[in-house]
Amino acid sequence: MKFYSTKNSNHVVDLGRAVLDSLPPDNGLYMPVSIPHLEDDFIQNLGVFSFTDIANELASVFLNEDFNSNEIRQIVDAAINFPAPVVTLGNGLHVLELWHGPSLAFKDFGARFMAEVMSGLVQNQDRKLTILVATSGDTGGAVAAGFLGVRNVDVIILYPSGKVSPLQEKQLTTLGQNITALEVDGTFDDCQDLVKKAFLDKEINERYNLSSANSINIARLIPQIFYYFEAFKQVKTDRNDIVFCVPSGNFGNLTAGLLAKQMGLPVAKFIAATNVNDVVPEYLRTANYLPKVALATISNAMDVGNPSNFRRMEHLYGGSHQKMNKDIDGFAFDDDQTRLAINEIKSEYQYIMDPHGAVGYLAAREWLRSAQSRYNYNDTRSVDVITLATAHPAKFLPVMEPLLRSIKIPERLAQLANREKKATHMTASFGKFKEWMLIH
Ligand SMILES: *Cc1c(COP(=O)(O)O)cnc(C)c1O
Repeated sequence: MKFYSTKNSNHVVDLGRAVLDSLPPDNGLYMPVSIPHLEDDFIQNLGVFSFTDIANELASVFLNEDFNSNEIRQIVDAAINFPAPVVTLGNGLHVLELWHGPSLAFKDFGARFMAEVMSGLVQNQDRKLTILVATSGDTGGAVAAGFLGVRNVDVIILYPSGKVSPLQEKQLTTLGQNITALEVDGTFDDCQDLVKKAFLDKEINERYNLSSANSINIARLIPQIFYYFEAFKQVKTDRNDIVFCVPSGNFGNLTAGLLAKQMGLPVAKFIAATNVNDVVPEYLRTANYLPKVALATISNAMDVGNPSNFRRMEHLYGGSHQKMNKDIDGFAFDDDQTRLAINEIKSEYQYIMDPHGAVGYLAAREWLRSAQSRYNYNDTRSVDVITLATAHPAKFLPVMEPLLRSIKIPERLAQLANREKKATHMTASFGKFKEWMLIH
């Protein structure tokens, strides 16, 4: 498959370039030149396929010009090695649990798949690839776990000292092997600045074959398509419509859903759920896209004031607000509503949902309230809404603590607490960072 830049449709590259560069030189975003429709047979018979079969079929569409079928199977087997189960709450509400991977958030799908693809792209080169990444918390954990032990790739993670949660710090600093953590005296922006300067530095680039694990890398989007098919398979019957509700920040997850639909998955509607950072729901309502400064909320991974994947969504609808509005309904909720929802899900359904998933639940509930009459659902035709649970509740202890006493903290999270932190401490000075890079 070939990819074009959203800023210049004549700038077309192959998968390798798109993945290793992350961004086109014009600062646009890479998008597939054409999105093939899967065979109806495959979609009608999803039920007979395992999750890895489905992932393999979809991955082939994107990777088959760059990898042979054995290699694609290996990439999928290594990256998608945990399940994506749907849990039914009741009243047409379902939850797609995307947190069964090592860092307990859906970002594991993207990070692991990108790691395997990058490793495949460089395995016949004599130079190792070095990924430089600055993190404010969550991305670093998923990237570290995703690249752990991956051949021919080293990862250097820069994080701001004292500004990530203790658990997040453990996820970055205790893995060892090909993962190195740098604890920087400064802010996230300082870390990002050091990374940017390293990419421009001649001596560092002579010594290292550098790449980034940027969140808008197309390789992170591709595996997110897989679980829409997997969830659809688990809930679809002859008489129901399927709606996906996506708690959103940068809108990568929702964009992957829209790609799944363009590939033939018959999704009736998407619901875009946000916290008070409601730029996209407002766009859907008013046709005006007005980026804002992000506000801090308890669903902090969705605190985004100018979602980078919005440009991709626009391209999928040829810039038409009307067409996008037909496929997507938007809703926004504040922190008080989110806290109430966490309690309601617990008391109504005996289920514990993290703050991000709870924003999704609110939107799903709101949408369902009016859908029965609006879309003429009756005794013979019904609708099921699948809300994406993007992270495990145990990742958000301060918000969840009052409720969490009754749930088990996953073993892989509990274990982290006892592991030894290994990080190199440094000031936020490029001179010092460069010196370390050149002797490291
Ligand atoms: C990153 C993240 C989101 C937002 O996903 P986007 O693809 O950026 O919209 C939602 N929930 C959690 C837990 C996240 O880590």
